[in-house]
Amino acid sequence: MLHVDQALKQYFGYDTFRPGQKDVVEAVLEQQDMLVLMPTGGGKSLTYQLPALLLPGLTIVVSPLIALMQDQVSRLQANGIEATFVNSSLPYEECARRERAAMNGQIKLLYVAPERLLKPSFLAFLEHVNKTIGLALLAVDEAHCVSEWGHDFRPEYRQIGTLRNRFPELPILALTATATARVRHDILEQLKLRQPIVHIASFNRPNLSYEVRKKHKGSYAELVEILRQKQGESIIIYCLSRSGVEKLSADLHEDGITNLPYHAGLSSKVRAEHQERFIRDDVPVLVATIAFGMGIAKPDVRAVIHYDLPKNLEGYYQESGRAGRDGQPAECVLFFSYADRMRAEYFIAQKADDQQQIIALNQLQQVIKYSESTQCRRRLLLSYFSEDLPGENCNNCDNCTQSIETEDRTEDAQKFLTCVHLTRERFGLNHIIDILRGANTQKIRDYRHNQLSTYGCGKQYSRDEWVTIGHTLLQQGFLTERRDGYPTYHLNANSLKLLKGHVEFYLKVEARPTYSQSPTV
Ligand code: ADP
Ligand code: ZN
Repeated sequence: MLHVDQALKQYFGYDTFRPGQKDVVEAVLEQQDMLVLMPTGGGKSLTYQLPALLLPGLTIVVSPLIALMQDQVSRLQANGIEATFVNSSLPYEECARRERAAMNGQIKLLYVAPERLLKPSFLAFLEHVNKTIGLALLAVDEAHCVSEWGHDFRPEYRQIGTLRNRFPELPILALTATATARVRHDILEQLKLRQPIVHIASFNRPNLSYEVRKKHKGSYAELVEILRQKQGESIIIYCLSRSGVEKLSADLHEDGITNLPYHAGLSSKVRAEHQERFIRDDVPVLVATIAFGMGIAKPDVRAVIHYDLPKNLEGYYQESGRAGRDGQPAECVLFFSYADRMRAEYFIAQKADDQQQIIALNQLQQVIKYSESTQCRRRLLLSYFSEDLPGENCNNCDNCTQSIETEDRTEDAQKFLTCVHLTRERFGLNHIIDILRGANTQKIRDYRHNQLSTYGCGKQYSRDEWVTIGHTLLQQGFLTERRDGYPTYHLNANSLKLLKGHVEFYLKVEARPTYSQSPTV
């Protein structure tokens, strides 16, 4: 057999393996079941493509997106490698023709969508191949799709594990760019991997800087400022909804910033055209929903800006990770507001399935923790993937580079906690703030909360300021939130210490330098 280094050069034209690739290739050649975790762009595809060329028989690659499949197959074919795909975009006869070619040994890699895999006709095809030329390997790309705890659950992926029973000898290689400990566990279990080697590459992207900005009325102006500073550079701006994309795209256009929108509501022709123009550097800024990006390899994206709160940290890591693929410095900026948080919670509450609700809330909590934290953002992101960041400080995120000024707000915190106590821990943030600010609402009148000693004692602060105090109390553990029905705030042992004055409460002073003065650029 050809030596793997030679094969790398011969088939792909590369001189060296990327970190980890060779270990995986060699283990796969030894028929080991494996789970490979590598960040996007790490070079996962090669770890099954190369063994597919060296092993006798046919390699099946399960891939969730038709566009990804086509892209990979055309790149392989361009290298003279016998690869093809079958999926619902092709007429029946064409699929049959390609399957026949595979049975005749004319194909080394066959890409297939998960829903096709378990169709009786495809199973019969696999049986036939298995008995004749043989099956070499089952590669499951984007393997996190098997897990409800991942960010991209596909029920069809659940079925893949049944192939293990049908073809007990067939080695399985599962690959993903995003997997928390929980998702990892799901993959091993669902795909029934046998004594698998789990290969985990580092997810750290040192060339990316991370920053969270508070979203408020002036944020749009800040965004425009960022875009003007980086004029001509490739930038992706993510929004949550199609309407959000349309509006932001139009606003930016009015402000003279050339950009194109991208979301699932546009026809596939328009989407393809916008994507193409962005990749060709025809247009520098793309305003998109998360529909944009899977499998897109534009190396020189200099910033990824989330104008709305992402749904989960895995998604955030993925989307922000589209910046700086060329290894050059790039920025990841997230705009965060409590209004976005409320909106996300509202949408989650609309979900019919309880389990889905719990998962979505849990994921949202992680995003909020990341956004509100005063710790190193990189450390937080990596810890989400169970990875430790060596050293104390990454020196490339806002929390590491901006010194954080704090002030003693013990007295205000005591007012807040007293108010929670006086209302018998039966209310949530909004009502407590209404009382503190002396609002005249129906609810306050009904409960006679205008007679409390804390009524109106916090008038001098804006609602936002109190929201920050409330959230920071929660985050620092001076309050507990319970969520049976609507959320209510409860005192705990720490609250009592704070109320008695045994400990102090500090709040970050919001004096973020304007963008043009920021030292990070
Ligand atoms: P992933 O699937 O992990 O996101 P890909 O497999 O798409 O990553 O690889 C990302 C890019 O890196 C591709 O353009 C690929 O051609 C390139 N690449 C992969 N392995 C190597 C290598 N050993 N040397 C040079 N380039 C490589
Ligand atoms: Zn840091």
